[in-house]
Amino acid sequence: MKIKWFKGGSDLFQTTQRRLTMQYSGLLMLFLVLFIVVVYTLLYIVILRDQHRELENLTRQETRIISSYLAESARNELQGLGSQELVLAGADQFFYYVTDTDGNFVMGSETMRHMREELFELVSGWVPEQNEIREETIRLTFDERRIGGREIDEAPKSDTVRLMIDGSPIFYNNQFVGMIYIGKDISFAYQLFQWLLIVLVSLMVLFAGVAVFMSYMMSKKAMGPISTAFHRQKEFVGDASHELRTPLSVMLSSIDAMEMTDGVEEDPFAQKLLRNMKSEVKRMTGLVSDLLVLARADSGVVERVIDEINVRVEAGNVIESLTPYAESNGISLYLDAPDELIVPGDRARLKQLMYILLDNAVKYSLEGGRVEMILSKNDRHWTMKVSDEGIGIDAADQSRIFDRFFRSDKSRTRTVGGHGLGLSIAKWITSIHGGTITVESEIGKGSTFTVQIPNEQAASI
Ligand code: ADP
Repeated sequence: MKIKWFKGGSDLFQTTQRRLTMQYSGLLMLFLVLFIVVVYTLLYIVILRDQHRELENLTRQETRIISSYLAESARNELQGLGSQELVLAGADQFFYYVTDTDGNFVMGSETMRHMREELFELVSGWVPEQNEIREETIRLTFDERRIGGREIDEAPKSDTVRLMIDGSPIFYNNQFVGMIYIGKDISFAYQLFQWLLIVLVSLMVLFAGVAVFMSYMMSKKAMGPISTAFHRQKEFVGDASHELRTPLSVMLSSIDAMEMTDGVEEDPFAQKLLRNMKSEVKRMTGLVSDLLVLARADSGVVERVIDEINVRVEAGNVIESLTPYAESNGISLYLDAPDELIVPGDRARLKQLMYILLDNAVKYSLEGGRVEMILSKNDRHWTMKVSDEGIGIDAADQSRIFDRFFRSDKSRTRTVGGHGLGLSIAKWITSIHGGTITVESEIGKGSTFTVQIPNEQAASI
């Protein structure tokens, strides 16, 4: 005989705490992500708008310079401007080009001279709408960067250059004389956005950890008082059940003694009263012992006594003890099992499990019904099926019948005794053996309860 320990009880609290932690951290994370998205978007908009404004100012300023030069030199065309150093290089200015009315190049300059063709191609023929600013990305080859670097000091630092391009018409004496295009290098802004994103994402990862930790602490704090109250209540149920057992058994033996007392034996009314008292005391004893089993189950660690048992023999004994009760209700019990079915398990508890399922099958059968227990075994587990042809269980109730104090179809179940604890105990006994219990049922046709338990019993489950 081996003694094993079963740990249980606090499952509900752990699951609830885990769920709370997940919900809290989900919420905190959502706020975090929202915060980061808002900050990033705001910065993006503010920085780009700032660049826009700078570029517009630059274009306006340079258009003015060219117009005033034309006025000073009393010329009405841009040709020949090439020799004049009119346009000043603004900060981050990548290129500027001035074209005549036909879009031909008049003058210009760029950070990387050998790229003039490519850059001029970008703006040639472009007539911007009011306040229209274009953004372009150009990719530089290694050679382009190197040559550019040698020629001028400010070669771009990366292979990709982001340009913001503005264009403006030039007028002289209200006459259109040409266009000016200015390209501004805004790569640094995008690099800034990239860095910002990296920093924000890193911060988010860091804060996500903090959020999970905080959520865990918060959920622990929230669960604390509930858990304590629940444990106190369970202790109380356990203690009360224990304390009630003794007076109940004293009452039962007193009733037995009273029944045999002279005078009472001959008085049919007194006999009837005592019979009623006895049945109620027995009912209460049943309830108290069910509560005690569940209180022990909840208490955390439960002792399991594992033996090699012949389930066929145990099932035979349970059926034998239930036969008079079944027969008195006109119900027949059958057992279908191999001659020997040896499995490891806690004898007393497995017998209790069989008793609960058979007792229910009889209780919820109609007169003349048939209740059958089938036992079988394969390489991995053994199975016990208890079927009846009784009232059946509503599909909506099938997932709830294993809950404590749940009783389906109140009108029918009220007439048969019970407190709705039997199947909770059955489920617990199955679970401490590492098994499962399921039900298949149809109203009016009957129910089949299937218990499946592994052949190997783990040291602790
Ligand atoms: P009790 O039988 O004491 O009410 P149980 O926990 O054993 O409590 O069962 C819970 C409920 O499940 C019962 O009230 C009954 O409605 C339903 N039930 C259980 N077994 C059967 C069955 N074999 N046939 C029909 N209904 C059943």
